[in-house]
Amino acid sequence: MRRLLIGLHALVLVLMARPASAQLQVVTSTTDLYDIATAVGGPLIRAVHISEGYQDPHFVEAKPSFILRLRDADVFAFVGLDLEIGWMPLLLQGARNRKLQPGQPGYLDVSSVVQVLDAARGPVDRSQGDVHPMGNPHYWLNPENGRRIARLFAGTFGALDPQHAAAYQDGAARFQARLAEQERSWTPLLAAIRGQPVVAWHTSWRYLADYTGLDIVGFLEPKPGVPPSPAHLAGLIATMKRTGAKLIIMEPFYDRKTADFVATRTGATVLVLPPSVGGIKAATDYFQLLRYNLEQLAAALR
Ligand SMILES: [Zn+2]
Repeated sequence: MRRLLIGLHALVLVLMARPASAQLQVVTSTTDLYDIATAVGGPLIRAVHISEGYQDPHFVEAKPSFILRLRDADVFAFVGLDLEIGWMPLLLQGARNRKLQPGQPGYLDVSSVVQVLDAARGPVDRSQGDVHPMGNPHYWLNPENGRRIARLFAGTFGALDPQHAAAYQDGAARFQARLAEQERSWTPLLAAIRGQPVVAWHTSWRYLADYTGLDIVGFLEPKPGVPPSPAHLAGLIATMKRTGAKLIIMEPFYDRKTADFVATRTGATVLVLPPSVGGIKAATDYFQLLRYNLEQLAAALR
């Protein structure tokens, strides 16, 4: 009997241990997290993302097929701050994966390592349609946060797959070195952007503005997620005239007609920028996403 028990115990340990060849199964909510995870984990991980870069990340229709991916996942990395609130609870519930329960290392709220802008003051209130009640979740558009995300992934992947911990650290170091190289190369673009007044549709560009010194003087949305009213637009047009803002930046999935309306009344131009990897063809990875946006902004503001 004792021998049988020892045998069973050994069997359980064998079943629990990760085979040397098995890849860490990673699911991310967005393409940006996917791209950074892949840069850190390389062939050691198998990653998939749930939303596409051209979708409004606040309103993703998550397909039930992702329940199967989550069921087998070791890590689910998400942006947090309620960005995924519309679909995440349902998919996680359906997946019934104990590794992805809050408190487990596989439940990876990436917002835990960044400095959140527009953090909620006072009680959280969604009643007026504000989709950022926990603070602004678009933090990946500041490369400093890209670094933090890479380091978080290296630590988490290494903790779950200790025999490759050093390789994950190397992956994060390579990512950071490449990012530093990119930053040096786009310094002239920043000079063209810094201090320039613009308006934006959504507050998603706050993090890029923080990084570049771009001066966002107003937003088309009166609150994040709330469509502009005529009165709000009238106020915004006055602000643009006062500040000399001649550029309106917006994501591909917002209402171009409204932006054009404001542009014709202010002599401004509308610039459509991708907020995420895969948002347009040129934004093939995190570095290209940042570079494309900086190039477009610099060209429009010169
Ligand atoms: Zn948002």
